[in-house]
Amino acid sequence: MNRVDEIEAALKAVRERLDAACRTAGRDPLEVSLLPVTKFFPESDVRILYDLGCRDFAEAREQEATSKIEAFRAEVADQSVRWHMIGHLQRNKSRAVAGWAYCIHSLDRERLIGALGRAAATALEAGERAQPLRVLLQVSLDGDPQRGGAAISDLEYLAEQVQSSPGLDYRGLMAIPPIDADPDAAFGELQEIHARLRLEYPEATELSAGMTNDLEHAVRHGSTCVRVGTALLGSRPITSK
Ligand SMILES: *Cc1c(COP(=O)(O)O)cnc(C)c1O
Repeated sequence: MNRVDEIEAALKAVRERLDAACRTAGRDPLEVSLLPVTKFFPESDVRILYDLGCRDFAEAREQEATSKIEAFRAEVADQSVRWHMIGHLQRNKSRAVAGWAYCIHSLDRERLIGALGRAAATALEAGERAQPLRVLLQVSLDGDPQRGGAAISDLEYLAEQVQSSPGLDYRGLMAIPPIDADPDAAFGELQEIHARLRLEYPEATELSAGMTNDLEHAVRHGSTCVRVGTALLGSRPITSK
């Protein structure tokens, strides 16, 4: 099979899986978006997904993303394409990410909020972006700071900091279940945390949860966005995260 047919079949299969998950959970499929994760795959694969109708794409590493997006934009002048940052971000990469990201799913510490807020405000003033950078706070469900994510007890404070940064717009939460955790328990807890925060931030409705192996569980627990890489594009090198 050529690459186009391969990706077309995979996309169809993932959409069917997502639809079935929504039906089983008694949810409207329009409530859950599919976010293709293109990290480690070439720009040509992004083009194939684009030609198949995808308009949102996620990347996890700033350097790889910045050059891939530049290549993509040189070929496709379509303002409706939106790039999401879902990986660990270093503070000194804030400027680059604020230049291309529609939404960051992985904000997890106060020091990053200041840097990213300033970078996004500068990009707005320079006309490099039209809207504030949407922010999802990444939650650590097991409290292990090594794996990324903010402590549950810090979320309210962080949301407040994001909301008071002119360049940023707090939109909701993201989490990756801890290794070996029961996905239903993990996503169930995430859903409760999300509901609590929404009492204060009713507009922040996004819940970025679910990947190739656990999207059904995430949809059952209120996910509004599943981030899918492997099921669409195949397996990545072993060193990837
Ligand atoms: C790589 C990655 C994904 C995609 O994972 P798959 O298991 O390949 O679907 C989702 N979310 C984040 C944060 C990632 O880094």
